[in-house]
Amino acid sequence: MRSLVVAVVAALLVAAQSPSPTSSVSSISGAPPPNGTATAPTNGSGPPTFAVTLASTNPTAIPLASIVATLPVTATTIPLPTSETAGAVPTGVAGAPPLPNILGINPKDYPPLDHPPPTDSPEVQQWIAQLSNFEFPNISVTQTGGCPNNTDAAKDPTRCWWTCGQCFQSTDIVTCPDKLTWGSSFDDGPAPYTPNLLNYLNQQNLKTTFFVVGSRVISRPDYLRTQYMSGHQIAVHTWSHFPLTTLTNEQIIAEFGWSKKVIKDVLGVQPIYMRPPFGDIDDRVRAISAAMGLTPVIWTSGKASNNVSFDTGDFNIDAGTISSSGVLKNFTNILRNATVINSGFIVLEHDLFQQSVELATGYVLPAALAMNLSIQPIVQCQHMPLSNAYLETNDNSTNPLPTGVGGTPLATKPPSSTGGSSSSGSGGSGSNTKGSNGDVKTLSIGILSSMLAALIGSLAVCC
Ligand SMILES: [Zn+2]
Repeated sequence: MRSLVVAVVAALLVAAQSPSPTSSVSSISGAPPPNGTATAPTNGSGPPTFAVTLASTNPTAIPLASIVATLPVTATTIPLPTSETAGAVPTGVAGAPPLPNILGINPKDYPPLDHPPPTDSPEVQQWIAQLSNFEFPNISVTQTGGCPNNTDAAKDPTRCWWTCGQCFQSTDIVTCPDKLTWGSSFDDGPAPYTPNLLNYLNQQNLKTTFFVVGSRVISRPDYLRTQYMSGHQIAVHTWSHFPLTTLTNEQIIAEFGWSKKVIKDVLGVQPIYMRPPFGDIDDRVRAISAAMGLTPVIWTSGKASNNVSFDTGDFNIDAGTISSSGVLKNFTNILRNATVINSGFIVLEHDLFQQSVELATGYVLPAALAMNLSIQPIVQCQHMPLSNAYLETNDNSTNPLPTGVGGTPLATKPPSSTGGSSSSGSGGSGSNTKGSNGDVKTLSIGILSSMLAALIGSLAVCC
């Protein structure tokens, strides 16, 4: 198996260095199974060879040369594979309630998009009051700009700040237990090209985890319902996608609270797993997250992977800071390292932009399928059923919620500092909004500047 993996990595690396595959198909919809010509012949001497070409892996892949920054649109969005109605019950989530009626949902009843929600609303005040018994660690809010703008905090091991050193705690999920098992996830949607990804996942009978942004959920609730009803795991990725360590305790409560609320309003269940935007988490954020019943999930990094960050970098194609070939090189490096570490792994990918969806469906996932990797939602790669992903259906005997859910007991101390650390930061995700066919939203300059600063900070080497 390992030799096959290495061979596929080598084939992908060659492909990543090529300007484009030989196929020229204009749509990623209707892709046939990708495993047609992948073979592993042996000649009796030396390692087996594994002939995988991009064209054979997914003949309908968009040519790499067409997956570029600030696209003219090269692929059309496709309709949702299914349309979900109120009262329907998901077949894959044992004990799940029926889908609620969302006809009455009004975005005006939720916070403005892409901003940290105000903390003086009745809802947020109620959530703050519910957490009044908790005592959160006295860790200072960080400044935007990441490690270079927070030199003291970056050197402070007691806060276990992932952004500056990839420190994580035992309460964070950063891997899957079983070697060569991929806990799959896509962040920052639902977005215009999410249906294209869903279509491919359905064709291949693959399930993933979607870390969704509340601002996107209220914009596309029907997308979220199809993701959920298709058997994918839904998890929290905050309301506005700001770096959480830059926010006050009350703002973090608002970010988590509104995200949980909008997902429950749309699905009838609320997730108990969350991913901090940019991976930006410290022990203060962890404590608030735990108090609100949320378990952090980060991609494989730091001590868990010999300081290799399992980040494809796909989010940055749209901004032009990495090429599609560069993302495939990152992916081959991830696969190479996946064969080395003793656990399974979690990779950072996104469904926000057209380019990242095209890479995932045309190249990354087909290659992983050809390698016979076990691709699972993150909750299931932890050996748990999908029902353990939601508060309403979680089996507390097998998956106890984080400390103190329900108002007791006091969280008087941060988790013990047992996490790993490394010498470099890592690129993370960012938040942006981009539609298609004229449906383009832009963030305010202030928000974009904040996120850019955070991203630059997270990319910088520190500590
Ligand atoms: Zn993100």
